[in-house]
Amino acid sequence: MTDASMSVPNTGDLSPDEFRAAAHAAVDWIADYLEHPERHPVKSRVQPGDIRRALPASPPPQGETLDAMLDDFHRTILPGITHWNHPSFFAYFANSASYPGILGELLSAGLNANGMLWVTSPAVTELEQVTLDWLRQMMGMSDGWFGQITDTASVSTFYALAAAREAVGLDIRVRGMAAREDLPRLRVYCSEHAHSSIDKAVIALGLGHENLVKIPADEQFRMRPDALETAMAADVALGYRPMAVVPCIGTTSTTSIDPVPAIVRIAKTFGCWVHVDTAYAGPAAIVPELRYILDGVEGADSVVVNPHKWLFTPMDCSVLYTQRPEALKQAFALLPEYLVTKGQDETVNLMDYGIQLGRRFRSLKLWMILRAFGEEGLAERIRFHCELARDFAGMVHYEGGWELTAPVPLSLVCFRYAPKGASEDEIARLNAAIMERVNAGGLAYLSHTKLNGRYTLRLAIGNIRTDRPHIEQAWHELRAAAAAVMAA
Ligand code: PLP
Repeated sequence: MTDASMSVPNTGDLSPDEFRAAAHAAVDWIADYLEHPERHPVKSRVQPGDIRRALPASPPPQGETLDAMLDDFHRTILPGITHWNHPSFFAYFANSASYPGILGELLSAGLNANGMLWVTSPAVTELEQVTLDWLRQMMGMSDGWFGQITDTASVSTFYALAAAREAVGLDIRVRGMAAREDLPRLRVYCSEHAHSSIDKAVIALGLGHENLVKIPADEQFRMRPDALETAMAADVALGYRPMAVVPCIGTTSTTSIDPVPAIVRIAKTFGCWVHVDTAYAGPAAIVPELRYILDGVEGADSVVVNPHKWLFTPMDCSVLYTQRPEALKQAFALLPEYLVTKGQDETVNLMDYGIQLGRRFRSLKLWMILRAFGEEGLAERIRFHCELARDFAGMVHYEGGWELTAPVPLSLVCFRYAPKGASEDEIARLNAAIMERVNAGGLAYLSHTKLNGRYTLRLAIGNIRTDRPHIEQAWHELRAAAAAVMAA
């Protein structure tokens, strides 16, 4: 506590009153913006270099006014924003900001707490534990899972595979991997449709990209357990050591759901860590009739789910659950003298479970979202998104010349324009042109993928503000673009 009569130093910062006025105005702007994000073209129209050229190349020698900055924000920065908050953002898995989430971010920035150790802000550690335990319960997972928040699924997966690498018992933490004749090739397995974050984790952990084995998928884009078992057995016969299997629930291209129970069974016979990537789809388990998507995860060692995808949480917030927190600690815990604190062993210290020391207060926004919506409110939104996806799939299915290219288990639709008689090359060219045209129009934003070499459009629903008219408008834009492309 400081003496209240002590004079406030001149810090060069804004005065509290200046901050109050500017922050109120910023909140007003955010409320207006989120009331009508569709006033902006969903995909930014700037060209590479436009924003950079519009900004001074050198820093200001003297302080500038907030007005000048906000002026530049509106005039120069905003045109370079692609609006993930736009209800017609269908390009990638959604990432939309709900009001309680924004409030949580604001308060967290104001507090500026760093939860590297329990003692450096007990609430940061304990609220994270409580919030993640609530989320676990909402998703129908049993107790016994330890959760921590990271920035992205890519980092969560990296941590999980780092723990798996330690869990093989080859003392890589101490002895490294170089010049070791006793070290077998460590192998990681995922489906051919797994996200590139698995590749990156394998590369960054020094396992060698060639040791990530991509298992073929079935006709519904799900990992084939028989092919997994064959690949693992062949590797063992060659003297390789299977280290981890990474099934995905909700793959990026199609949201296919790998058969986790069978994969867990096989992985366990080889003594492998199982890390489930359900970065996008995990929140769907909050919906009672969709809870089945997590069947089998109880046999896994770790699971990643991203509230910043389908849980209306502003960037960034990924959750890594593990039933083996000791393995994470084995991989990462380290205690230099300057971080020793009294009673350390009796508390969770989140720095022990990953690379980062400093840790921002991300759980606050997630906690506020879980409280504001409640389990049923969240389930209702997610259920509605799946319903919209089915509706859109129906529109495609019944329209001549268009086809669905994958099943629609959740809220993503894979489809394409495929006029009778067109070759694969023509179809690819036509759909690329259709997508280009729709995206340039500013009323909807889609992306594409390739499925077994076939060019496919993707419409991903998950934005909190997406409603039926947005889906209908996207469909209208797509058909108009197809007609224009055919007429050109
Ligand atoms: N896993 C899956 C299935 C994804 O679809 C994505 C991104 O879309 C990721 C992982 C990576 O997520 P992040 O951007 O949080 O690293």
